[in-house]
Amino acid sequence: MARYVKRIDHIALVVTDIDKALEFWQDALGLDLSHMEDVPSEKSMVAFLPAQESEVELVQPTSEDSGVARFLNKRGPGMHHICFEVYDIEETMEHLKAKGMHLINEEPEIGTGGKKIAFIHPESTHGVLVELYELSEKEPEIRRDRARELAERVITEGQTVANAAMEFLRGLTGNGNKGKQN
Ligand code: ZN
Repeated sequence: MARYVKRIDHIALVVTDIDKALEFWQDALGLDLSHMEDVPSEKSMVAFLPAQESEVELVQPTSEDSGVARFLNKRGPGMHHICFEVYDIEETMEHLKAKGMHLINEEPEIGTGGKKIAFIHPESTHGVLVELYELSEKEPEIRRDRARELAERVITEGQTVANAAMEFLRGLTGNGNKGKQN
């Protein structure tokens, strides 16, 4: 068992057009799209496609003056970074520093849900930006809430569609319960 790294959490890919990219990742390769969101703070649109315990993240810049846009202009579409979940981020960073590796973050940054992240400079990794990530204790809870929220939204939308279909069928058969309040 690896001492520092638990698994690959995600691989982030920069694309010029998320919808176009989904024609490969979703339609052709058959990964599920779990969700897509606009991240104004990063001036980008992101899409998440889980593959078992890891995820592919597609990132499309939404403004020319973002880090992702600069990356895209300089290097073209492709891999932006690979993220490893680690057991203990501080311990991993100390170890890497002792090995003379160039860390972009001196201390872990606290991300959404209290998770800790840090980046290793590509000059130490032979050309790949590497992200380290340690799960916070609160995160499984936050993820559960989010999954529940998404599920509820899907059910509500499904219900709306079902109701509309019923209305339509009632209209066809002239069997609507128009007098009834509901
Ligand atoms: Zn990342």
